[in-house]
Amino acid sequence: MPEGRIIKALSGFYYVQTTKDIFQCKGRGVFRKKNITPLVGDFVSFDIREDKEGYITEIKPRTNELIRPPIANISQAIIVSSAIEPEFSSTLLDRFLVLIEAKGIQPIIFITKIDLLTEEQLQVIQKYQADYEAIGYRTELFSTKKTMDSERIQGYLQDHVTVIAGQSGVGKSSLINVLSPDTQLKTADISKSLGRGKHTTRHVELIEINHGLVADTPGFSALDFDEIEAEELSDCFPEMRERKEYCKFRGCLHAKEPKCAVKDAVENGELPKYRYDHYISFLEEIQTRKPRY
Ligand code: GDP
Ligand code: ZN
Repeated sequence: MPEGRIIKALSGFYYVQTTKDIFQCKGRGVFRKKNITPLVGDFVSFDIREDKEGYITEIKPRTNELIRPPIANISQAIIVSSAIEPEFSSTLLDRFLVLIEAKGIQPIIFITKIDLLTEEQLQVIQKYQADYEAIGYRTELFSTKKTMDSERIQGYLQDHVTVIAGQSGVGKSSLINVLSPDTQLKTADISKSLGRGKHTTRHVELIEINHGLVADTPGFSALDFDEIEAEELSDCFPEMRERKEYCKFRGCLHAKEPKCAVKDAVENGELPKYRYDHYISFLEEIQTRKPRY
């Protein structure tokens, strides 16, 4: 039975790409009974009915899935932040990082619009870059308006399924347009104006750029921590994840506990304090949220 990956969902059809071709497939009722719907990004088996048409018979297990946009098996997320206009916010960046880490997706940080910075402002951004790289995140600084090493940036996409994240106006569409002039990324603003929530069929597509697939709709637009528990939060901070075994208490939340390896590392300057402060404020946000019923 042929197998492939769903690269597009539109009007009840799933477009399945195999090594040779793209097949227009329908889902089977059996999925509805099992309460599972095929998603863009899914690996599936299908029956061929007509030339280039078929029925999906099986969905392979997923490594992860997003609800907005509905995509499965994402391997990495690029967080686009602007250095300025809108002002760089490490709080917002950390929020995106936590949400992406919680899904088991590899984050990459892209900081754009560096052409608009003074030398002093650039130094501030470079300090952030050094901090995030020390934690282990790949971080790129560039401008889509000035000469940019597009090949190097495109290299990140190869062999991955990538979702782009970032607040409105940071330069997500500009980035995609530079990397793939034939593609137009739908911005968060456009999808909003199309009336999210009104029962429009939301069309999602994975676009091929440089031997990789990129979602045409930005991800992680809901920035709340509703799906994250307090005990899980520090595992979304790599620098805490790797230190927690040295905390005195198992299940240490690195907040009020004594003999905490994370707090020690912050106090002696090994770890940036602002990341820890964001952790504490996210933790409070989770601990004070209304219980879900
Ligand atoms: P999106 O909402 O994240 O998709 O952001 P856009 O790609 O639409 O960009 C928002 C604005 O920032 C547009 O006016 C772009 O021309 C501008 N912009 C994007 N990237 C850069 C950059 O690297 N340098 C400068 N100077 N402007 C940029
Ligand atoms: Zn601790």
